[in-house]
Amino acid sequence: MIISVASGKGGTGKTTVAVNLALSLSNTPVQLLDCDVEEPNAHIFLNPAIEETKPAQTLVPKVNYELCDYCGKCAPACEYNALVVVPQKEVMVFPELCHGCGLCSLVCPQDAISEIPREIGVIKKGTSGDGKIELVYGLLNIGEVMATPLIDQVKAELNPAKTVIIDVPPGTACPVIAAVQGSDYCILVTEPTPFGLYDLKLAVEVLRVLKIPFGIVVNKAGIGDRKVYEYCAKEGIPLLLEIPHDKRIARYYSEGVPFVREMPEWEERFAGMMKKIEEYEQ
Ligand code: SF4
Ligand code: SF4
Repeated sequence: MIISVASGKGGTGKTTVAVNLALSLSNTPVQLLDCDVEEPNAHIFLNPAIEETKPAQTLVPKVNYELCDYCGKCAPACEYNALVVVPQKEVMVFPELCHGCGLCSLVCPQDAISEIPREIGVIKKGTSGDGKIELVYGLLNIGEVMATPLIDQVKAELNPAKTVIIDVPPGTACPVIAAVQGSDYCILVTEPTPFGLYDLKLAVEVLRVLKIPFGIVVNKAGIGDRKVYEYCAKEGIPLLLEIPHDKRIARYYSEGVPFVREMPEWEERFAGMMKKIEEYEQ
């Protein structure tokens, strides 16, 4: 089963839920894919022994000037404005804008465009100290804007023989869709505030378009107001779990300690949430 953990806004506790859920599934082999490649932090909580680090690459065009006749057909074909043809002089390539779709090499009548790899980040694989959780995460190079290809490459490591938990980047843009697509279920983490509600509504719209079933976890329950609960009741969105605004939980978070390790009663609650999700699937 593939479960993604997402939120319409950053800082709601998405990674906290993903990591504590992974640690609570004691009898199940778990793989955690941290797709929040701009700021992965599940490894801080799990402190895994890293067994493999490999570069993540995307393909960008390279022009052979012995063949190019500056016809200009490649530039307008690129939806991302990653190519500019300077007549009789140069075909300028902007690698940071290139999505690696390969279209320019297909449209070039002179067969003058080949593709070369460009490094955009790294993928790291490891296992948590107790050997129970396999962690895979991507780390985008600083200044790199192309998160989606790296997310795809992290997801290529997905092991369907395990329960897979995907930590999704925050927001509702392309990287979120790349990370969440293919999930059997999505846990939306929110907080009971006006900001939380606003971003929750956006995330709900995305999941409805993608036709991925979902429920919500309310983190920092007790702050804010009841509007998130009222919205979910009205929309028929299941409330899977509430995590209170608790000083101890906040302290463990700031120390990089998953709170189920220090507050074991929560293991049962996370495992119970998993049961609810599995029941939904049947
Ligand atoms: S389409 Fe090919 S031949 Fe035409 S300008 Fe681009 S690289 Fe050169
Ligand atoms: S590979 Fe695609 S995105 Fe990249 S420059 Fe060519 S057409 Fe544009």
